[in-house]
Amino acid sequence: MPFPKIEGYVVTEKLGSGSYSTVYKAYTKVGARSVVAIKCVDKSRLKHSSSAVDNLITEIRLLKTLQHPHIVQMKEFSWDDRNIYIITEYCSGGDLSKYIHKYGRVPERQVLYFLQQLVSALRFLRSHNVVHMDLKPHNLLLHEGSAGRVTLKVADFGFAQYMASETLQAGIRGSPLYMAPEMLAEGATYDAAVDLWSLGVIMYECLFGKAPYSSGTFKELMEKIKSKAPIEIPPKASISPGCRDLLTRLLQHSPEQRITYEELFAHPYLDLDRMPSKQNYEKAVQLIRRAVDHDGAGRLSAALEDYCEGLKLLVAEVARYRSADSQQALTAKINTYMDRAEQIKAILKQQSTPTPPLSTPLPLRRDLVPSCCSAGVESHAYYYDKQPLTPNTCSCGSQGEAEGSCQCGADNVKDKNGINKIDKSSSNSSGSPKPKRFELPRWFRKKDVPYLPENIIEETGEATKPDCTPLGEPANEGCKIT
Ligand code: ADP
Ligand code: MG
Repeated sequence: MPFPKIEGYVVTEKLGSGSYSTVYKAYTKVGARSVVAIKCVDKSRLKHSSSAVDNLITEIRLLKTLQHPHIVQMKEFSWDDRNIYIITEYCSGGDLSKYIHKYGRVPERQVLYFLQQLVSALRFLRSHNVVHMDLKPHNLLLHEGSAGRVTLKVADFGFAQYMASETLQAGIRGSPLYMAPEMLAEGATYDAAVDLWSLGVIMYECLFGKAPYSSGTFKELMEKIKSKAPIEIPPKASISPGCRDLLTRLLQHSPEQRITYEELFAHPYLDLDRMPSKQNYEKAVQLIRRAVDHDGAGRLSAALEDYCEGLKLLVAEVARYRSADSQQALTAKINTYMDRAEQIKAILKQQSTPTPPLSTPLPLRRDLVPSCCSAGVESHAYYYDKQPLTPNTCSCGSQGEAEGSCQCGADNVKDKNGINKIDKSSSNSSGSPKPKRFELPRWFRKKDVPYLPENIIEETGEATKPDCTPLGEPANEGCKIT
């Protein structure tokens, strides 16, 4: 079928289709040639159904007012004698359903990342008294930003109520898989809690590759739903306790027993206040900078506090990147700051206990700053130069050397805390940094980061397909901390 002709746009490809509409990718003919998605709704298919028209208008009105980083932004809408066109931002990563099909299962770390975004959109929707009622992976779009950061966005508002009765007969991969049991009961009354059930089903499908009630036939599906068969978490699933708790509380058949919105927004597993976001990344950078300042001025307790707070935000940030290079670059930086925080912790501990000084000096491992991160090197230059640590002493007896090596040639200038400015012992024989595994310091694991999986890079379930889709971003995009 030829692409529709839409005034002002050049249509380039079909992106998907649903019950009433087909969605195309297009770009603007004039100006910056911005890429958009155009949802074309066939008017002839709406004529005999006034509710469809109403729902479409609802969608348009809603989309216009709902502006949130995790909700697909509507730009404008228009119509001609055949179609209504809803022009929205283009999401380059496809929808979550395609993503799950491609990878089979999504690692828990990434599920948490998607969930945080989805729940933050739900929090916004709740504050505007909006219930989506058709939450499912097909209606969750992924957008890949310029730095390879993937953002989830909620799409497709407004058709839900009308579609619900239609899709019941339509097929087993349709909405019933995601619809709350109370919606399917005869003479049903239901409320906003239906979106919470759908959220649980989406979470389950991401983690285990299929929806809890996925069935071979439509009859089987309806039987499972009606019998309220308990939802089983696969016995071999290795998910964290927080993940299990949230999943179980979302997938409660009775809306009264289901987690409430307030409980969801405050759930420690989601930790919405620290979710990866532009704001939290900026906050993390500020905290780390302040920590470096405190550190340089010898205010070690304050430095440790800021390093810890900043690191907690940065650890979550790793999940934003899909490219392994960017993840590694950020991880290496995190390790560097964690090392420093560990050193400070040891110094403080030592200061508070009357034991002899440490026999081996604690290294400030400048050599661990990845060479791809020029910004990272600068941050350490900042550490040395802006707040020179005086008095600096070398084993030769000289004082006041600020750059880590003394005129005597030794690389063992120490600051007033007895810390070597540069410790070459942590480099391998070629002088390049030793590869380091991503590890959370012990004090982060349970106390400060509730429910954080023991191993943050651990995958979920049994065999999992790899989750590293190439996005072609520059290797050092992920490490901009200065
Ligand atoms: P329907 O109401 O017909 O279900 P949707 O708005 O859900 O329409 O869009 C159908 C499909 O088109 C989605 O599942 C998705 O794959 C694709 N799609 C929709 N909007 C966009 C967009 N803004 N960017 C990229 N793909 C999109
Ligand atoms: Mg849809």
